[in-house]
Amino acid sequence: MDRYQTRRDKLRKLIRTADADALLVTSFVNVTYLSGFTGDDSYMLVTRTGEVLLSDQRYTTQLEEECPGLELSIRPPRVNMLQLVVKALKSANVSRLAIEADSMTVGLRDRIADKLPKLAITPTTALVEKLRMIKDRDEIAEIRRAIDQAERAFAVLKAAIRPEQSEKEIADNLEHQMRLFGAKGASFTPIIAVGPRAALPHARPTRKRIGEGDFVLIDWGADDGLYKSDLTRVLVTGRIPPKLERVYGVVLSAQLQAIKAIRPGVSCQSVDSVARGVIEKAGFGRRFGHGLGHGIGLEIHESPRLGQKQKQVLEAGMVVTVEPGIYLPGWGGVRIEDDVLVTKSGHEVLTNVPKRWEDAFVA
Ligand code: ZN
Ligand code: ZN
Repeated sequence: MDRYQTRRDKLRKLIRTADADALLVTSFVNVTYLSGFTGDDSYMLVTRTGEVLLSDQRYTTQLEEECPGLELSIRPPRVNMLQLVVKALKSANVSRLAIEADSMTVGLRDRIADKLPKLAITPTTALVEKLRMIKDRDEIAEIRRAIDQAERAFAVLKAAIRPEQSEKEIADNLEHQMRLFGAKGASFTPIIAVGPRAALPHARPTRKRIGEGDFVLIDWGADDGLYKSDLTRVLVTGRIPPKLERVYGVVLSAQLQAIKAIRPGVSCQSVDSVARGVIEKAGFGRRFGHGLGHGIGLEIHESPRLGQKQKQVLEAGMVVTVEPGIYLPGWGGVRIEDDVLVTKSGHEVLTNVPKRWEDAFVA
């Protein structure tokens, strides 16, 4: 059985649990997960016994290539998506429809209700996302590939870093290198933050030059086509600011201890607490203003989230980032981020870029 069929069969069980006849999948990422189709503007109606992918004529050839054998309903230009959905619901005899509350628009829901007044519509959250949390062997291989592309690109960049390069130049180079190593592109615009700008967890690359600060924070990842990677390293490019070694040491120790805590059965919030505890003890508790990490996969941020209120329990097959940080406004910040697979017996760190303090120095 192909991987997409397996996923749809698992989803059918969740649809039954939600007491519905069918789920209208309107999140394009979820459609990709359930079909292998990489285009957008398409929905999938998954019923208790089958499924149909709803799309338009632009995608006919791509659909035949990417999901051979899948039942398709292709709308000609004169038919709109609403009409296509209504037709599919009627022909599958759906009387209780589950919808994806996080992606279905209020407008579309109202128009469906208007056309089919007897249809019971139930909003659901995270049915497909729940399945997506656990990666299968192929998905893990694809994430490994995205990591490899990101790491090779970083090695090239680190070897060639110069004071006159701007944040933006480095971001652009990094993306270009990842493409040369086979990536479709960057999984997000790389964050290249020189000196004090590293205090902004989501800094946008500017014209600021490497030589204008003593260190640079680089947060980057590759998109292998479907699956993504996400890493962060700090490089020392000038004289060593006295505070940096200390802050770096605290962040690294928080990260290593949190990674050590990762295994099946442990809650996301408890892993977050391990890192937070180390940072608090060092007196920087208020300077770690975000969650410890997030799932990666088809999206760069997905479930599960490693955060203070996250009761989700880790299971084998989940892939999460572990990225504690300390941010001191006006001075800068340190974040160290790796991608970690939860295994049956514990965890495996999938990323390999060295991160000891000595490794942070640019030769
Ligand atoms: Zn990142
Ligand atoms: Zn991240």
